[in-house]
Amino acid sequence: MARSVVVGGNWKMHLELDSAVALASDVRNRLGSQRGAEVIVFPPFPFLVPVAERLRESRVAIGAQDLWPEAKGAFTGAVSASMLRSVGCEWVLIGHSERRHVFGDDDALVARKLTVAMAEGLKPVLCVGERLEERQAGRTFEVLGRQLDTALAGHTAAALASLVIAYEPVWAIGTGQVATPAQAQEAHAWIRDHLRGTHGAAFADAVRIQYGGSVKGSNAAGLLSQPDIDGALVGGASLQADDFAAIVRARAA
Ligand code: PEP
Repeated sequence: MARSVVVGGNWKMHLELDSAVALASDVRNRLGSQRGAEVIVFPPFPFLVPVAERLRESRVAIGAQDLWPEAKGAFTGAVSASMLRSVGCEWVLIGHSERRHVFGDDDALVARKLTVAMAEGLKPVLCVGERLEERQAGRTFEVLGRQLDTALAGHTAAALASLVIAYEPVWAIGTGQVATPAQAQEAHAWIRDHLRGTHGAAFADAVRIQYGGSVKGSNAAGLLSQPDIDGALVGGASLQADDFAAIVRARAA
């Protein structure tokens, strides 16, 4: 089945107001009327409003890098799903490896965040991926299965219609050590097959699975030409609008 390409730019904890707005303008100029691919940027929280202003009436959507799974209250430093909706976010990253491994988000918290995001109408990008030692121990699929099952348990295929999954091997994130197209395709095919078992064939065939981990303009075409890779989640290279645009256009290249 034909799945449309979806490419996200995770700006992580980079930039300041001026450079964030300049990057948003550059992305808009290059990709604001891009067809055939869905493009999302994930700026840091303080820049969501000015970046959303820059991207208004363009085809580039905006997302947040995280949320806290409560509606409101005494949660100092946290940001709720409805706050994100109120400033124009359509998307949210859930379970990014830096949240899991730097901030300690466990599978149960990731599951709560996913549930709340969807309940509030945010479209989630659920990130999953194994660490190097897990891959070396032959545990990649066990880890992916556990992360997927905990997050998606209790949600019907219909409820997950807006879900995007990002397969991001932890050893490839920010390291320059990109997975080979064959390694990535193997994991994506496994994920799709696993979802066929848990949520049915129609869902598994339709769900888009991004690859993330050191994607650049120069290596994107090989990855995005794989049959089960439907886009990319991009960190470092998303801070350069020309490289980010090259990734978005790589499927056609
Ligand atoms: C990411 O932040 O999700 C990511 C994949 O980062 P990088 O592209 O820098 O490896």
